[in-house]
Amino acid sequence: MDKVRFLNLTVEKNERDNFIEKLISIMEDGQIVLGPEVTEFEKNISKACSRKFATGVGSGSDAVYIALSSLNLNKGDEIITTSLSWIATANAVALTGATPVFADINDDLNISPNSVQKLITPKTKAILSVDYTGRLADVRSLVDICNSNNLHLVEDGSQAFGAKRDGYTCGGYGIVSAISHNPMKVLSALGEAGSVLTDDPEIKDRLDSLRYNGTINKEYLVKPSINGRIDTIQAAILNVRLSTFESLIKKRASNAEIYNELLDRRYIQVPKLNANETHVYYTYTILAEKRDQLFTYLQQQNIECKIQHPILMPEQPPFKECTSEITNALKLKAKLISLPIHEKLTRDDIEKVCYAVNKFYSNK
Ligand SMILES: *Cc1c(COP(=O)(O)O)cnc(C)c1O
Repeated sequence: MDKVRFLNLTVEKNERDNFIEKLISIMEDGQIVLGPEVTEFEKNISKACSRKFATGVGSGSDAVYIALSSLNLNKGDEIITTSLSWIATANAVALTGATPVFADINDDLNISPNSVQKLITPKTKAILSVDYTGRLADVRSLVDICNSNNLHLVEDGSQAFGAKRDGYTCGGYGIVSAISHNPMKVLSALGEAGSVLTDDPEIKDRLDSLRYNGTINKEYLVKPSINGRIDTIQAAILNVRLSTFESLIKKRASNAEIYNELLDRRYIQVPKLNANETHVYYTYTILAEKRDQLFTYLQQQNIECKIQHPILMPEQPPFKECTSEITNALKLKAKLISLPIHEKLTRDDIEKVCYAVNKFYSNK
């Protein structure tokens, strides 16, 4: 039987033709660096995220780093973030010279506001929330905490473009937000890309400078930084994909519904949605008993699954000195497994996965 793939990055003919047309127009135009497609992308994405400004950058990692760097942090400043994310989140903090402090997570796999509250010290400057798996963190509680403690809220929305909760939108909350558009992400380019969003004109100016070595007009240095400019070709691709994005997340949501309906919930826990929430299912991550055996079994059945981040960020050697209580994260990480959810799956594919998962447990 055919393999059920975790990802399928092939590009269908319709889209391919569109991309080729854009590519030809960029080559004819000759504005290869920060061409008009970049300005158009920044306009499109800021509108989609209900923000005043966007800055296109080279990757999601650049985006998180540049977002934090725009706050002019100092060595010794503490940034509270989640313990469960791709390592780029913690790296961005470390690269600014600030110290990451890792909070525990809730059962929705996002940062726990209760845990955050306990970690605030006089050195805390910001909370960096991650919209993990494609759904927003408890933004309302995080906003309250930031307001009462005079902290910045920064969003790593890399996984969740299009997600909403309690009136908040991915890319649209906090002082500055970062999104990744790498090929795995929900709004994806054909290579590396990212965006940074804000409503603050002063921060927007800093973002533009920080994405090009921290300079103004290339020659006047304000603050040392990286070359993090978005590629014009990737911006053009993203403009095309933004126009079809809604149907893509609808398909992912309907895939999730099939899983929710067919999976045997005696042994696994599926993502539980809150009222007023749109989940974009960057991953469909479940909590499973006997996770490692299930993973092996699914592999044998020709089903590609992923165990993402089995090493929590505070467990990585360079961050081991950052010790806080992360009881729930340690408990949940042993059960996490992500099933294929992408928009090119057929109902048959998902039924096959569900059948295999349920069969695994019925044999136990
Ligand atoms: C993917 C991701 C990043 C980094 O994005 P890249 O585009 O791969 O550099 C940062 N944070 C989170 C939460 C991510 O999932």
